[in-house]
Amino acid sequence: MSTSSELDSIIDRIARAAEGCGRVPDEVTLVAVSKLQPWEKVAPILAAGQTVFGENRVQEAMSRWSERRDQVELHLIGPLQTNKSREAVAFFDVIETLDRDRLARALADEIQKQGRAPRLYVQVNTGEEPQKAGLLPAQTDGFIADLRRQYGLEPEGLMCIPPVNEPAGPHFALLAKIAARNGLDRLSMGMSDDFETAIRFGATSVRVGSALFGVRA
Ligand SMILES: *Cc1c(COP(=O)(O)O)cnc(C)c1O
Repeated sequence: MSTSSELDSIIDRIARAAEGCGRVPDEVTLVAVSKLQPWEKVAPILAAGQTVFGENRVQEAMSRWSERRDQVELHLIGPLQTNKSREAVAFFDVIETLDRDRLARALADEIQKQGRAPRLYVQVNTGEEPQKAGLLPAQTDGFIADLRRQYGLEPEGLMCIPPVNEPAGPHFALLAKIAARNGLDRLSMGMSDDFETAIRFGATSVRVGSALFGVRA
């Protein structure tokens, strides 16, 4: 196995952030966000032993990863159209962007049909930004209750993308609070600019793209 100084550096920063707040580094999964990166950037990170990758489009993920599917754990981190539910359920290990009733119904149907169940995260729009996907914080408890009661879906955790121009900490704290009151203990939060902060607020996975692969084309 080869090494990658970029990967080592991110893993090291995750470990130091975790230890700095009395957590165990192993509690935090690095999701390497390879969306829109040329394969020359992704290959060295894969070769250096990274196994968990995040993609934001179903089609792009399938064309890139199909032939190496058994080597990696794949997370869908971009918005999912209901009409792509079949492919998404068939292909991904984790879908992090469940944010509406129609999608819940479509995923539940596909999971039943295919006998394959990706782990699911409910996306919360903590900043209540109109252009952003995700449930409003005030809708989230009811949505999770519906997932459980109506669709028999048990989410693994919650995911958020804080507004770019605000301190991220309060958004991470809000996500943690909503998760706790719904009995969920997994939090997907933190990106290149704020993953160490997210770890302090309890992130169990961080989604890091540009800090690992360089700026996207
Ligand atoms: C692109 C993206 C990331 C990675 O962002 P960086 O700032 O490059 O680390 C993380 N999460 C989601 C949902 C994304 O779309």
